[in-house]
Amino acid sequence: MSDCLFCKIIAGEIPSKKVYEDDMIYVFEDIAPAAPVHYLFIPKEHIASAAEVTPDNSAVVAHIFEKIAELAKGPQFENGYRIVSNCGDAAGQSVKHLHFHLLAGREFTWPAG
Ligand code: AMP
Ligand code: ZN
Repeated sequence: MSDCLFCKIIAGEIPSKKVYEDDMIYVFEDIAPAAPVHYLFIPKEHIASAAEVTPDNSAVVAHIFEKIAELAKGPQFENGYRIVSNCGDAAGQSVKHLHFHLLAGREFTWPAG
């Protein structure tokens, strides 16, 4: 989508700090980190939110969770981490391209405010 911030990041039109990339997904550092480690996992295909996941496009979601399990290794992750996907305005989704936040390196409270 031409007006989508994350599609522009995938295309290299907007700079980002890449953590990982393959043919299905792009992983980069959040520009406003909410924890010592704050990565964003996004599908290269434009999917607007978790509400737009269907049997036709859901394989990328499984792939993202496999890569989270692979990348969430090392001292910053050993005490646990949080995965978040905000869906819709009331949940605070500010970028309408499906993404999973991976947060680590501090304690997290629950329920999330
Ligand atoms: P959400 O509010 O759940 O939609 O998450 C969107 C995230 O994208 C926020 O945590 C922002 O800090 C992050 N973000 C916005 N613009 C950029 C950017 N140019 N590079 C990296 N992260 C960004
Ligand atoms: Zn997009």
